[in-house]
Amino acid sequence: MRRPLPLVDSTRLEFGFERTVCACEQCTNYCRHVPGYLVPSDLERLCDYCGCAGAFDSWANQHLLASPGALVMRKGAIGRIPTLVPARRDNAACIFLSADSSCSIHPIAPFGCAFFDSHQEDDAADRRSSRGLRAILEDWQSAGPYSALWLALHAAGRNAPTPETARAGLSELSKRR
Ligand code: SF4
Repeated sequence: MRRPLPLVDSTRLEFGFERTVCACEQCTNYCRHVPGYLVPSDLERLCDYCGCAGAFDSWANQHLLASPGALVMRKGAIGRIPTLVPARRDNAACIFLSADSSCSIHPIAPFGCAFFDSHQEDDAADRRSSRGLRAILEDWQSAGPYSALWLALHAAGRNAPTPETARAGLSELSKRR
């Protein structure tokens, strides 16, 4: 079966990359198991979109989780860069995934969603991911608002599974089909 190709949306750029748009089943399976991570610039966009400027902490506490972050190689050692991710429903799906399998925050979906699709070459996805993670690392190194929110969510027990655990659910789904 032919798979639909993602569209490029050059009206939204992040780190010089263009957004991609695809709602095929393979792409939306990520929404069901591995919601994409936020970069620091996503926080303000999400806050504005949700109209919660005065109550962002409360909104974030309901809609975001602290993830241990993906395993990365840094300075010759394997470590993690902790990331913020969308909260999940009981079935592990992203809290922003609608019943019709669309994204309820599509215009401002997080970097880890909006700039990736399942059709991308690994090299292209790795370049994007490295750039996004660098921005997160810079926030951690400067004790910025992203890391402060992560620490607050983590302290409140609002934690996401590791990306490896989440991806295992995605693999199981692929095997069953
Ligand atoms: S924020 Fe939207 S695109 Fe990202 S995982 Fe959730 S539903 Fe999918």
